Amino acid sequence: MGIKTKEEYIESIRALKPTVYMFGEKLTTSVVDNPRLRAGIEATGATYELANMPENRDLFITTSPLINEPVNRFTLPPASIEDLVARVKINRKVANYVGTCHQRCTGLDCLSTLAIVTYDIDKKYGTHYNDNFIEFLKYMQKNDLTGNAGVTDVKGDRSLAPHAQVDKDMFLRVVEKREDGIVVRGAKSHQTGSLSSHEIIVLPTRAMGKDDGDYSVAFAIPSDTPGLIHVVGRSSLDMREIEGCDCGNVYYSKYCPTLIFNDVFVPWNRVFMCGETEFAVDMVVKFSSFHRQSHGGCKSGKIDCMTGAALTMMDYNGTAKMSHLKQKVIDMIHRAETLYGCCLASSYEGKQQPSGNYFIDTVLANASKIHEGKEMAEATRLMIDCAGGYVADLPSDRDFSNPEIGDLLKKYLKGVDKIPVEDRVKMFRLIEKMAMESADTISDIHGGGSAEAHRVTIFRESDTESKKKAAKRLAGIKD
Ligand SMILES: Cc1cc2nc3c(=O)[nH]c(=O)nc-3n(C[C@H](O)[C@H](O)[C@H](O)COP(=O)(O)OP(=O)(O)OC[C@H]3O[C@@H](n4cnc5c(N)ncnc54)[C@H](O)[C@@H]3O)c2cc1C
Repeated sequence: MGIKTKEEYIESIRALKPTVYMFGEKLTTSVVDNPRLRAGIEATGATYELANMPENRDLFITTSPLINEPVNRFTLPPASIEDLVARVKINRKVANYVGTCHQRCTGLDCLSTLAIVTYDIDKKYGTHYNDNFIEFLKYMQKNDLTGNAGVTDVKGDRSLAPHAQVDKDMFLRVVEKREDGIVVRGAKSHQTGSLSSHEIIVLPTRAMGKDDGDYSVAFAIPSDTPGLIHVVGRSSLDMREIEGCDCGNVYYSKYCPTLIFNDVFVPWNRVFMCGETEFAVDMVVKFSSFHRQSHGGCKSGKIDCMTGAALTMMDYNGTAKMSHLKQKVIDMIHRAETLYGCCLASSYEGKQQPSGNYFIDTVLANASKIHEGKEMAEATRLMIDCAGGYVADLPSDRDFSNPEIGDLLKKYLKGVDKIPVEDRVKMFRLIEKMAMESADTISDIHGGGSAEAHRVTIFRESDTESKKKAAKRLAGIKD
């Protein structure tokens, strides 16, 4: 109970017994003992490790008014502007530490959403979802747990609504209602860190129509619930961790399973919505906006690491004083800061909701995510430009330690004389990892929803009438 250390977090994940398949086989050992998954679990572990460092405690730890105890902010739905701002800052801090996705923001984004929407549903229907949620939140906070966001359905034919699909299970749905709970079936794709999480928090992935009642469901269950199957997806470079060689980022990585719900039981006290179709859109807009804000904090922290890698490589290559490279580093830094600035602005413009919780400014959060989608790619291009071609095809560490060719490689891959060749090789590897780890880099584009979803939200949530009014007044046109 209380704030966990990283070691306590790892042991609490070890205590879970999820069903996991990876590379065609069922995992028979604990996920924390598998090097591929452990690198992802370590990234989430950093949210615990950093929170326990004395210099970070003021930022990461606060008192929850709900349980009146100190909690890690990754379990705290925002209840003030200060809390919204802190969300961005902790994400930047952790990403800056791990250089990849730390995987814990999605659970906080679900908690932040449910704190608002369950209250609104109860107000309209006299249901008790908010009571269920508050009990769940107390449990998360008291035990300092990590949640995963089970939002994206596999979706089948994208042109059809959930109820109209040929296979009715293409969106997760309730297949049975019992006295003690519901049984759900379906699959959620790209489940970042589902095995680094104690709880899977499921929300609908899209707006629902009146015929989609069975699909309008939200709940939370432990990640090792019977019937849940985690199928770990491939990511470029994933065998490096299995081989224990050429990892680049020597501590952390990211993985995203597809999560199959094979008729899974959910007790009623863990259900946060069931059939209130018109609230599905609120769930998805609130979640995705919160998540797009989290991304901005996180990705500005990752660009910090990328900038550091570019600058270090310039030192190692003897190019630190070349003015065009300095310009490129400046172009990386301003991209990180505009992303960060946009997310902070979305926090400062946040508003209190009927539940008492705070919600960010959606237009600014979505603007930040559009910016991220394009500018992370540009920052990556600039980092690679500064570093050189060995980001693409560096020989393996095994070649460097080969008795026949190792010394030759070390001789020819040296940069400036005073830097050990081993350090230059390590930095190339890190840059390769940050540029090409597909599970992380592709989340810049599709994570939190694809780019069109951000545009649609921006147009819908912007006050377009006041903009037209301003233009008409200047042109002397009366309304
Ligand atoms: C690395 C990574 C991590 C992720 N982590 C998580 C996670 O932790 N939890 C989670 O729930 N999700 C997660 N996601 C999922 C992410 O939210 C989805 O990938 C995203 O919403 C796009 O869905 P999709 O992949 O099914 O692509 P699609 O929805 O098939 O989109 C492909 C393209 O088709 C367009 N399109 C699709 N349907 C329509 C339509 N009806 N009308 C118009 N255009 C359409 C889209 O705009 C897009 O351009 C992650 C994704 C990635 C890549």
